[in-house]
Amino acid sequence: MAMACVFCRILRGEAAGTFVHRGRSCVAFMDIQPVNAGHVLIVPTRHVADFGGLADAEGAELMRLARQVAVALRGSGLRCEGVNLLLADGEAAGQEVFHVHLHVIPRFAGDGFGFRFGPTYARPPSRAELEHTAERIRAALDPWDGVG
Ligand SMILES: [Zn+2]
Repeated sequence: MAMACVFCRILRGEAAGTFVHRGRSCVAFMDIQPVNAGHVLIVPTRHVADFGGLADAEGAELMRLARQVAVALRGSGLRCEGVNLLLADGEAAGQEVFHVHLHVIPRFAGDGFGFRFGPTYARPPSRAELEHTAERIRAALDPWDGVG
């Protein structure tokens, strides 16, 4: 655990946190600046800054808990017509707390939240460009890293 990390401080009970679930490897607590009421963060109990630093089992538990919270949101009576999962990995992606966290965000029509696309979005790549890009990713995938 990192001493200064706000999520580690919440996990240690040194900072306030409103939990909806405490598991061995992952917990779920309320985001203090929710996009909509019911916005929950799924957080590994081990301090891991980067998404890629999660163990496979932690990643699986993170997603399992997110799925359960998404189902709970829909059954909670809170306004929830849909759910977004959002994980910001790295500063350029909008990560502000460098302890992995997956946002589970209840959504409803007209809630005002959304994604803003950059200029390249309006100019989709050719199939050849997609193949070239995919080849770079395939070459970088570690075949011994559990990629099935
Ligand atoms: Zn931490």
